[in-house]
Amino acid sequence: MELTTTVARARALFAALPRPLGFVPTMGALHDGHLELVRRARTRCAGVCASIFVNPLQFGPHEDFTTYPRDPQRDCEKLAAAGADALFAPDAAAMYPPGFTAHVDVGSAAAGFEGALRPGHFRGVATVIAKLLNIVRPDVLFLGQKDAQQAIVLRKMIGDLDFDVETEIVPTVRERDGLAMSSRNAYLDSAQRARAPTLYRALLATREALERGGTKNAAIEAGSAALSSTAKLDYLDVVDAASFEPIETLRPPAFIIGAARFGAVRLIDNLWIT
Ligand code: AMP
Repeated sequence: MELTTTVARARALFAALPRPLGFVPTMGALHDGHLELVRRARTRCAGVCASIFVNPLQFGPHEDFTTYPRDPQRDCEKLAAAGADALFAPDAAAMYPPGFTAHVDVGSAAAGFEGALRPGHFRGVATVIAKLLNIVRPDVLFLGQKDAQQAIVLRKMIGDLDFDVETEIVPTVRERDGLAMSSRNAYLDSAQRARAPTLYRALLATREALERGGTKNAAIEAGSAALSSTAKLDYLDVVDAASFEPIETLRPPAFIIGAARFGAVRLIDNLWIT
């Protein structure tokens, strides 16, 4: 696997890779969820590349940018073993040189939920992915269902701004007890880790109640009850899969989405209803 850290070298490297070219953007601290995206790209594409960039633009001033887990050496080994051909791992100065001012604002899909609780987050995500798509020029962009709102926001950006790339959303990879894999799971202490799967159970309980024909409010109440009494729910809701706006009845395609805090550790998860 070839590694590059500069934009100029990345352009040359990716232009020489066989097509179709699949691209997996990440922030590193890779786990099996990330690697599933790489494996999926490997089955569909002749060339596979990934990026690792902890994007300062998508972190709020009081968020975990400086402490976000970083493990570049092991990440390279994992990507190579999963079948990536090339890795772009720039530093912040390479992506945002002095004088950088342009941003991408996606609009309503980015307004609620994570967008409301993390002001500026999706503006930062959309901006960095727009840059990466222009540098890498992939044919297929692989995104995780784990970050459903992010995937929908990026699909909207790609459609509205005519980026010439297809997106594939890859189902969430979970631990054996149901907890969605996430780099931030590393922050959980053992008591929090034991309670963390209750977020997934809350989503399942919400889905069950909806499928039994209950109202959305009753289903969300049932879901909330499944959450550990020591976790703090940020939101639990049902949204349209294209607009990411709340809907009152389960009308597929939709997501049941949830976010909760286990101590200082904030986790998100969702179920895709097709
Ligand atoms: P991140 O490094 O958190 O920015 O994630 C990079 C990509 O991996 C995003 O498209 C995520 O949605 C995806 N991803 C993260 N966790 C998982 C998971 N458990 N299963 C599938 N995809 C994931």
